[in-house]
Amino acid sequence: MVIFGILNLIFKRIIIFMSFTSEVKTEMMENKIKKCCRYALLFGMIYYGGKNNSLRQKNLEIITMAKKLIYSVFGISIEIKEEKGIGGETIYCLDASHLPFDKSIEATKSCCEASLIKGAFLTCGMVSNPNRSYQLEFALENSIKAEAFKEILLNNGINIKQTQRPPQYVLYAKEAESISDMLTLMCAIKGSLCYIETSVEKSVKNRINRSLNCENANMDKSIEAGMKHRKAIRKLKEKGIFETLDQSMKDIAAIREQNPEMNLEQLGQLLKPPLSKSGVYHRLKKLFQLSEES
Ligand SMILES: [Zn+2]
Repeated sequence: MVIFGILNLIFKRIIIFMSFTSEVKTEMMENKIKKCCRYALLFGMIYYGGKNNSLRQKNLEIITMAKKLIYSVFGISIEIKEEKGIGGETIYCLDASHLPFDKSIEATKSCCEASLIKGAFLTCGMVSNPNRSYQLEFALENSIKAEAFKEILLNNGINIKQTQRPPQYVLYAKEAESISDMLTLMCAIKGSLCYIETSVEKSVKNRINRSLNCENANMDKSIEAGMKHRKAIRKLKEKGIFETLDQSMKDIAAIREQNPEMNLEQLGQLLKPPLSKSGVYHRLKKLFQLSEES
């Protein structure tokens, strides 16, 4: 049962990440690739996002993109191989371990550096649907790659945290703003806007809820005070004191008895002529004192 529960949790986590991640990756792949960015994009995909400079992906589009980039950068054609995954699904593999990658020319221009980050995200990144949670992560092969990649993100103004989820080294962000910045950097504009809109919507909803809670608390206080006053008026009537009060006191008592949920300001508006909040307060206080003394 415990194992089933853990598997169920892992499965749910994968589902939450998968659909939004796929949408974001599709958007990224639709962008035109500048000639100067090709090498950096490929380097991000294979070196940072791959394992032993090879790729294993369920998404055939990503593998095909890597294959085309390898051909345009190195003039080499690599065959895409298929394997079966644990659940019987097809995994597409591209062995690029023999390619002559030169780390020293990773990225020289800012557009190329952004392409390198995008490449890594395509092959080892995930982003959650902002309606469920805020999380973007890169799962890298080892600590050396994780440290180097973190440095690249920092150079691009992205603050990211690091953790270990054996056998992977994970770089992650959980704030909507950082995630939106990263998606913008990687040219996933629709994904970025989705994060911005959702976080604004959530903060407006929270503000409305807070003010509703506050209003409800005030309403509760008015009702409590109203019940206390009604009890005092009843006592004054039972003891025959009520009849001896002047008309202004009888008027406020009548209005209070009929409207226990109203606050002092609202009660004052019902009197003819209207009475200020403090005027109502003093008359009700006097009624209450008289009942206490009786
Ligand atoms: Zn470039």
